[in-house]
Amino acid sequence: MEHYDVIVLGLGSMGGAAANTLAERGAKVLGLETFAPGHDQGAAHGGTRIIRQSYFESPEYVPLLQRAYEGWRKLEAESGRDIMELCGGIYIGDPDDITFRGSKEASELHNLPHEILDADEIRRRFPTMNPADDAVAVYEANAGYVRPEETTIANAQVAAKKGATLRFHEPVTHWQATPNGGVEVVTTQGTYGADRLVITPGPWAPQVLPELNLPLSIDRMIFYWFSPEYSDAVPYERYSDKQHPVYIEETHGNQQIYGFPMTDGPAGGLKLGFFRKGSPTTANTIDRNVYDHEIAEMRERALQLFPYLTGPVVQAKTCLYSVTPDEHFVIGAHPLHEQIQIACGFSGHGFKFVPVVGEILADLALDGRSAMLPPTLFDPKRAVLRGA
Ligand SMILES: Cc1cc2nc3c(=O)[nH]c(=O)nc-3n(C[C@H](O)[C@H](O)[C@H](O)COP(=O)(O)OP(=O)(O)OC[C@H]3O[C@@H](n4cnc5c(N)ncnc54)[C@H](O)[C@@H]3O)c2cc1C
Repeated sequence: MEHYDVIVLGLGSMGGAAANTLAERGAKVLGLETFAPGHDQGAAHGGTRIIRQSYFESPEYVPLLQRAYEGWRKLEAESGRDIMELCGGIYIGDPDDITFRGSKEASELHNLPHEILDADEIRRRFPTMNPADDAVAVYEANAGYVRPEETTIANAQVAAKKGATLRFHEPVTHWQATPNGGVEVVTTQGTYGADRLVITPGPWAPQVLPELNLPLSIDRMIFYWFSPEYSDAVPYERYSDKQHPVYIEETHGNQQIYGFPMTDGPAGGLKLGFFRKGSPTTANTIDRNVYDHEIAEMRERALQLFPYLTGPVVQAKTCLYSVTPDEHFVIGAHPLHEQIQIACGFSGHGFKFVPVVGEILADLALDGRSAMLPPTLFDPKRAVLRGA
């Protein structure tokens, strides 16, 4: 049986980064993945993911994001791929909504450069948008997007260059801790041994970690690409990532929406979606069709912010969230086996952290601890994950 220092189960967003960092630190690494690099069955597809630092979810994430930005630039340099684009980000809401208030608080606490805009100023600077008259916004120039497929492909490419063995199209069917403190992992093609195991299964966490009975909601989410009607006053250039920021908006009690500038030319469509409005499913049984009533509902909501988004829908695709009860991640030692590290439950906001999660998992697997891991925020044993 082949023996490794560390096996990484799942080479998607987080597992790809973990394999890359582990190989860089000199570990003998085996990565195992069901699908091909850059596949569209999990949580790492759809062309773009928002990255931002004025983090309304909790200021505790900000140091991780600052570290992640360095990691994104490093991944671009090592892979020669174009992955991160800082086109700015705007978070629009009522003054008391978490989107505005939380972004402002995180910016102030961590001295992040930001501007506060009122509705008139938003319209003046970004004429694609027509927010409510009493809306306010945090504008963060240091925000933008990263490309998920490019990321997973880049991490695989760079990890392999650093010596990792990566086996795609080889799903893990079983894993177990062994009495000598190691692990044994069985796939459709063989059995492998290792001292340590890193489990990064994304929306397959309920199948891969059944013994933990984690209270994860695996949610079917949709991104939509709508065509705007261009005019002399608001031409294509106003929607392109040279002039348009990423955005999150919630006003007047409406569902939070988020989206991107146009990244694929005038015919590519403006991509957006509901931030939290999924329906529970599983990674193996998700309905990948998108229905007319869903498109109609999204368009109606989108028109409240983008008055010219009246052209045809270019594309609509499903994607999977893995949501914990407190919407914070699950990262740390497996509660039953200290030689196994787990990372899942990224609750629809994990992608921007990919490089730093890779570093944390490498630290945990090789040293048993990571200075970058917040003390309790992501604890796999925290009360809400035990149903308490
Ligand atoms: C619609 C949508 C929009 C999002 N927008 C943003 C955003 O704007 N910003 C942001 O930061 N985040 C965003 N996210 C969230 C982010 O994409 C996820 O948090 C992140 O991709 C999760 O990474 P992961 O590694 O856990 O899962 P994945 O990337 O899905 O990786 C898990 C991998 O494990 C593999 N695997 C599972 N089981 C096995 C097995 N038994 N054997 C071998 N391999 C296995 C899978 O095939 C998969 O490749 C969004 C997600 C969605 C769906």
